[in-house]
Amino acid sequence: MQGGTRFNSISDELKRHFGRKTIKLGIDAGFTCPNRDGTCGYGGCAFCSGGGSGELAAHLSVLSDAENAGAELAVAVSALTEQISSSISEQIALMSDKWPDAAYLAYFQSHTNTYAPAETLRTLYNAALDDPRIEGIVIATRPDCLPPDVLDLLSEINQGHYMWVELGLQTVHDEISEAMGIGYTYETYERAVDELLSRGIRVVTHLILGLPGETQDMMLESVRKVCERPLFGIKLHLMNIVRTSRLAETMPDYVPFASIEEYVGLVIRCLEIIPPEITIHRLTGDVPRRLLISPEWSYRKRTILNAINRELAERGTFQGAALL
Ligand code: SF4
Repeated sequence: MQGGTRFNSISDELKRHFGRKTIKLGIDAGFTCPNRDGTCGYGGCAFCSGGGSGELAAHLSVLSDAENAGAELAVAVSALTEQISSSISEQIALMSDKWPDAAYLAYFQSHTNTYAPAETLRTLYNAALDDPRIEGIVIATRPDCLPPDVLDLLSEINQGHYMWVELGLQTVHDEISEAMGIGYTYETYERAVDELLSRGIRVVTHLILGLPGETQDMMLESVRKVCERPLFGIKLHLMNIVRTSRLAETMPDYVPFASIEEYVGLVIRCLEIIPPEITIHRLTGDVPRRLLISPEWSYRKRTILNAINRELAERGTFQGAALL
């Protein structure tokens, strides 16, 4: 922890590692998700807004029966690699005035970024890694989308590049996971983490605070349990009801926390049970205001973060304090 902060933020960790400000460039590489295309389910997790273009998915599924599927897929993948390169250049052009010396990581963020054959994944990841301005890669995925050949590919990339893999877990409670239609169990997540860790790959776990049906004790249990493994990082998302999600139709009035203060109180209890070496990647929601239904204060990220920092200081507490 540095700069007087009371938790181990990923921005501080990246600054330590690269020696300068490090920026993640969000990449949409055209993936879809097995929980949307019918492989695992339709309609996605109940809280998911379904962002992402899904361009690659269309080519992988629709063309799989066509006579010249291989050739057409190659054309589609080639178009996507160009898209990835241009997206990186455009984002760096926007950032470089303000941060002329920044380091950049390519963040494969939209949908399930290991949901394609390993050789297609290699081509797409390389589209970013071949850019000399890119110093590392971040891959977000589901724990049930890591077959052995994809794990081998990730291991190979990890040996030559700075990398971490983000796994959406959301909760360790299978009954809640099932109610949300997530489509995999905690055991599947555990297996995926162990496979990644055994290859020396950094793992970041996503949890949602405020899922319908969960008490605060259940949320704390999720945090405690995932921290039993040597994770690189953790992302705590404030539960948001988002337009275009299934929950927007079934529970439009659901409010996970009555106030910012209540949410901040829970975040502090979470931080106190997270070992200090685990990096903190998020402590709020991250939904654009135009998509947000509730809690209506969720878009005030700066206010929430300031309140967390203020409360930590006032209570004289910090990340890992309850573990001493
Ligand atoms: S796994 Fe991720 S992308 Fe797929 S439906 Fe769930 S939240 Fe959305």
